[in-house]
Amino acid sequence: MKNTLLLNLLVVFCLSFQFSWAQSGTTDTLSYVADPTVHHNWLYLGDNTHPQPKRVMTVKTDVAVIGAGIAGMSAAVAAARQGASVVLINDRPVLGGNASSEMRVTVNGAHCERETGIVEELLLANKKYNMQESYPVWDHVLYNYMRAEPNLTVMLNTQAVKAVMDGKDIKEAICWQSSTETHIKLIADVYIDCSGDGFLAASAGADYRTGREARSEFNEKYAPETSDGWQQGECIMMITKDMGKPAPFVAPSYARKFHADKAFKRNIKNLKEGFWWVEISSDADGIGSREATRDSLMAYFYGVWDYVKNSGKFPQAENLALDWVGSIPGRRESRRFMGDYILNSTDMLEHKHFEDAVAWGGWSLDEHCPGGIKNLTDPPSYFHDRFKTPYEIPYRSLYSRNVSNLMLAGRDISVTHIALSSTRIMGTCGVEGQAVGVAAAMCVENNINPRDIYPTKIKELQQRMLRQDYYIPNVKADDNKDLAQKVKRISASDTSEGDVKFLLDGIARDVQDTIHHWTSASSKAYVDLEWKRPVELSSVEIKFDTNLHRGIMMHKDPAKYEERGQIQGVPPELVKDFTIEAKIGKEWKQIAEVKDNIRRFVPVKFDSIKTKAVRVKFNDTYGLSKITVFELRCYN
Ligand SMILES: Cc1cc2nc3c(=O)[nH]c(=O)nc-3n(C[C@H](O)[C@H](O)[C@H](O)COP(=O)(O)OP(=O)(O)OC[C@H]3O[C@@H](n4cnc5c(N)ncnc54)[C@H](O)[C@@H]3O)c2cc1C
Repeated sequence: MKNTLLLNLLVVFCLSFQFSWAQSGTTDTLSYVADPTVHHNWLYLGDNTHPQPKRVMTVKTDVAVIGAGIAGMSAAVAAARQGASVVLINDRPVLGGNASSEMRVTVNGAHCERETGIVEELLLANKKYNMQESYPVWDHVLYNYMRAEPNLTVMLNTQAVKAVMDGKDIKEAICWQSSTETHIKLIADVYIDCSGDGFLAASAGADYRTGREARSEFNEKYAPETSDGWQQGECIMMITKDMGKPAPFVAPSYARKFHADKAFKRNIKNLKEGFWWVEISSDADGIGSREATRDSLMAYFYGVWDYVKNSGKFPQAENLALDWVGSIPGRRESRRFMGDYILNSTDMLEHKHFEDAVAWGGWSLDEHCPGGIKNLTDPPSYFHDRFKTPYEIPYRSLYSRNVSNLMLAGRDISVTHIALSSTRIMGTCGVEGQAVGVAAAMCVENNINPRDIYPTKIKELQQRMLRQDYYIPNVKADDNKDLAQKVKRISASDTSEGDVKFLLDGIARDVQDTIHHWTSASSKAYVDLEWKRPVELSSVEIKFDTNLHRGIMMHKDPAKYEERGQIQGVPPELVKDFTIEAKIGKEWKQIAEVKDNIRRFVPVKFDSIKTKAVRVKFNDTYGLSKITVFELRCYN
């Protein structure tokens, strides 16, 4: 016992200081470190003792992120890049939430535009390292990306089970790491619940809703007349393989017969990727019925597949065999936590402008029908409306209104049921994650709560976000520390489209028909910045082109890329190699070189230099013989 206590104290001590080694550039995942001299809970034949297991660990960090779906990963990286120490926990062994190999849901975003920032970086990394479009490899692309982030520690197989409160503050999150049977106290200044279901937030007493609001509450035209408990449902997906010869299928005994003749708008065209409408939803406790829902989904799924394989109506399925079937149902909706503002579909359809807009979306109002496959008379989704331009999401919808140090991102944010039918999409969840990540780091820096950011620090939050390549509709960059804004002249070697002056116009993407980029006429182009008097510089930050109008997400059926207007591999528009030169006297001197770039936003740091002119020389792209750039910034 004495040994165990000593070890626990040591672990608490070591882990409180573990962030010093997390700064080095690659981080380690964090777990209990077993003492080889202590044997727990089994008969130790060496001396016939039965020591009791008591693995306890205290982890202190600035920001704790619960749940590593696209929202949680984005929040964690965003906070870490602002200098906060961050611990990201996930109750399952792989990262990605519904997008992981466990569920294989495609990371979609706004129909009208593509997100930038961390979501873009993840998808670009996948293009580079996973050209084969393998879901298990995608899990590792995410894992490698998270581990490469200084300030960020990932704890897998770790579930947050309870919040310990100090008044309105979460004082600690009690977690359980199932793989090491370790009880973890996670102590942070700010907690960001990105877990979808929000178990921690609920245990903290954060106000939440489930179900559908009545139309009158927010004047939502697609909401029902009276409120009820219906939430959108859960699914399991599949992937098939062409065996090149007939592949018989025998349904398991529990399969439930699919009545195609009674099924309204259940489309059986896509035999490669599964059927998103094999869905079960609840008007009560969907979380509590999850195990039963999984069993039921399997029965429905095999019933549909049996119909495809054995009804004789799909000869094209004769050679198809199931290559993968999900075992964990992906969930679309459960708790929605209430912030100081509840975003509703009326705001979205009217494109309401929020002074505190920090995120945005643009997926359609894709509300799935109550009951899912149990309700074959309704269409599986109503697809109420589409957005031609992005709608704004206010900061006030991204923190709890009654738990002071709790923020939210993902499908658990402060929105109505109808609004969630659009905001739940993962690109949008990632954008929200970026916003709360930056905001959480600001809370730590200033020793304030999330609510204190609005209104006094909202402009600072927006500006920090824009600098990191997080787009906010209707907000322009305005950073007086950006020395590029103070140049006497900006010029380019050659131009075929746009204008090199657009690189300083504060908008780092084309917005509808308005161009905000410069495109060269050749691939060996350069841009010069000249100042009247010498300036001290130590970094140049560039935003390149990755073609935001073309899809970049991974699909279960890569053969369909062409049909979808997508390409495989890194976008050919992206600049791969470039150098930065500074003018010293009359000579140009190289001060930095970047090779094999795979990011849209590239901050380049170098030893501080005093100069009157800087040249960015582009040497190669991933395919195109022109260079396109959206923004150039310089800092000391
Ligand atoms: C079948 C299906 C199809 C869909 N189709 C699309 C689509 O095509 N494109 C699209 O973009 N979106 C789609 N969606 C919606 C989208 O997947 C979700 O809305 C989105 O994943 C929500 O993101 P999130 O980060 O909030 O949660 P999640 O992706 O669910 O991630 C939450 C993570 O937190 C973990 N977690 C949960 N509780 C805890 C806890 N207490 N402690 C620690 N970790 C915890 C979970 O294991 C998970 O890893 C679909 C959803 C389903 C179910």
